[in-house]
Amino acid sequence: MSIQTVGIVGAGTMGNGIAQACAVAGLKAIMVDIAEAAVQKGVTTIGKSLDRLVSKDKISETDKAAALACVVGSTRHEDLQQADLVIEAATENHPVKIKILQQLDQMLRPEVILASNTSSISITQLAAVTQRADRFIGMHFFNPVPMMALVEIIRGLQTSDATHDAVHDLAKRLGKSPITVKNAPGFVVNRILVPMINEAFFVLAEGLATPEDIDAGMRLGCNHPIGPLALADMIGLDVCLAVMEVYLAQFGDSKYRPCPLLKEMVAAGRLGRKTGQGVYHYA
Ligand code: NAD
Repeated sequence: MSIQTVGIVGAGTMGNGIAQACAVAGLKAIMVDIAEAAVQKGVTTIGKSLDRLVSKDKISETDKAAALACVVGSTRHEDLQQADLVIEAATENHPVKIKILQQLDQMLRPEVILASNTSSISITQLAAVTQRADRFIGMHFFNPVPMMALVEIIRGLQTSDATHDAVHDLAKRLGKSPITVKNAPGFVVNRILVPMINEAFFVLAEGLATPEDIDAGMRLGCNHPIGPLALADMIGLDVCLAVMEVYLAQFGDSKYRPCPLLKEMVAAGRLGRKTGQGVYHYA
């Protein structure tokens, strides 16, 4: 089936980024959220993001107008019935996602592929609440979606080859570079990234170097664009801790124990940029 219309559930950080990527690629993007304010904010965010691309000469005014014309914002889940593929990018909450996916499964044509942008929930488990486990897949975009090249494509236990190939092709049409991953906690990138950040907290707690020098070491010695502690502040220390707790519980391996300093900082409410203080202070 040729994919011309993509449905996106959730108009938040990731949902509006995914809708923008689809629209810029000339696909119709139907973006649905429960809250009208979220839909409006999502559409406004896409407009501003396209303005930035125009000001940097990445796209023309005509391209921007064409992309905006491809975006439909709605609070009606029924509007997704026109979609050839639906990407769920709603709040990272297991019961919320189950409810959305069951509703979509009832509503969508049988051949329509359902994808989830979840960061941590098992694709096999999400697929199992639908009647289309073979047409269910993980499509994990990175933030900010219009800028980041990677999409992790996560195969659940029952995902068919045809579903994988269709989603792989779609990721390429969006100008992304997909990698294929088996279902497991953290998939590939976060499985490597978050334990590295946790280790940086151990290094800090052991007093081996200052935060600035730890970050400079990884920037200059490994060519990372940002140091692990500054990155933790961007992601949110609470998110990093939650991810480590999932790894520890699901793998049962003590190598995933969260650093006590990370736990202390989260308990103190020092969550990073969003609270004005994490490892670093923000004005
Ligand atoms: P967000 O909080 O910015 O947006 C979530 C949106 O979902 C909200 O606007 C909310 O109103 C909406 N929503 C909740 N229930 C809904 C429903 N029943 N129907 C329609 N909309 C509903 O969250 P986000 O950061 O965009 O994350 C979305 C998903 O993407 C999560 O699964 C998250 O784990 C994943 N993800 C996030 C990032 C990131 O950096 N933020 C990166 C990769 C993946």
